[in-house]
Amino acid sequence: MRVLITGAAGFLGSHLCDRFLAEGHRVVGMDNFITGHADNIAHLQGRDDFAFIEHDVSRFIEVPGDLDGVLHFASPASPVDYLEKPIQTLKVGSLGTHNALGVAKAKGARFMMASTSEVYGDPLVHPQPETYWGNVNPVGPRGVYDEAKRFSEAITMAYHRHHGVPTRIVRIFNTYGPRMRPGDGRVVSNFIVQALRGDPLSVYGDGSQTRSFCYVDDLVDGIYRLFMSDRAEPTNVGNPTEFTVRELADLVLRMTGSTSRIDSLPLPQDDPKVRRPDITLAREVLGWEPRVPLEEGLRRTIPYFAQLVEHQAARTL
Ligand code: NAD
Ligand code: UDP
Repeated sequence: MRVLITGAAGFLGSHLCDRFLAEGHRVVGMDNFITGHADNIAHLQGRDDFAFIEHDVSRFIEVPGDLDGVLHFASPASPVDYLEKPIQTLKVGSLGTHNALGVAKAKGARFMMASTSEVYGDPLVHPQPETYWGNVNPVGPRGVYDEAKRFSEAITMAYHRHHGVPTRIVRIFNTYGPRMRPGDGRVVSNFIVQALRGDPLSVYGDGSQTRSFCYVDDLVDGIYRLFMSDRAEPTNVGNPTEFTVRELADLVLRMTGSTSRIDSLPLPQDDPKVRRPDITLAREVLGWEPRVPLEEGLRRTIPYFAQLVEHQAARTL
């Protein structure tokens, strides 16, 4: 296959490029670098089976040649990023998804969009099955991301039902691993970088809120299986083992051997109190489940940030 991956220079997009290439497909990556970085795909440049187009997907998308698949992963994903870039976030979820669907329709390609556990908002049902419609504040600060993704799901289903485009919707739960931007503000990257630098760990609120963290290789495997399946309805992909944020902070301190203290900072507005995927569907339909426990995933992730922190320290000497 020849597939277009939007958001290719981001954390997940770059790992997806690697996976599709490893499976023998050809990849066209597209990104405008607003939250991603060229370093994430530097190792792919010069390959015959990889091409890159720098482009804002909220504007009309043109890709020369045939395409068999379009994976729409472009969007700021960290709360810090989407709160800083609210309009771009709304545009890439709406106009960007429309343009990406348009390419898929024109080329006769299969389409996948990266949705999110944020469509469940601050959930009143726990764990969250795909059938739950969510508890989202549409006019709160997080609404720019949550509603963009909910619109994105709606237009994807409309292209499927009305135009017959083969579509897939993956609802991704908190994922971590190498190639996250050290300053992107998400909890795993923040805690690791703070611990490595000896800075205080920034726990928001009392740290009793929960998340369920998935290692990137597991997630990419679930995404690949879903893309290859014929399931059009939204599908949760994530690790169902749940931790409090405070437990994560303690684990990061232990694993880095850091003596950083833990600071308590204000909890952001509408921060979900709990989050954990019900992955019954992914297990049954895709034969998928995560294999990498949090401690093992952190063991694989910490060296990536350690090397960046050392490099930065060396630059400021
Ligand atoms: P990321 O910020 O690392 O990557 C996003 C990429 O999209 C960046 O390279 C950015 O430059 C690019 N981009 C943004 N707007 C663009 C535009 N208008 N045109 C072209 N490129 C644009 O984030 P990520 O964690 O890799 O997330 C990728 C996708 O997965 C996003 O759609 C996100 O909503 C979704 N997702 C991620 C997670 C997670 O835990 N990582 C969870 C749920 C959903
Ligand atoms: N969080 C935190 N300290 C940080 C960053 C995040 O305590 O430095 C908390 C945040 O309030 C949320 C959880 O960690 O409850 C996960 O935040 P993240 O930004 O990684 O993703 P979210 O799940 O909120 O999209």
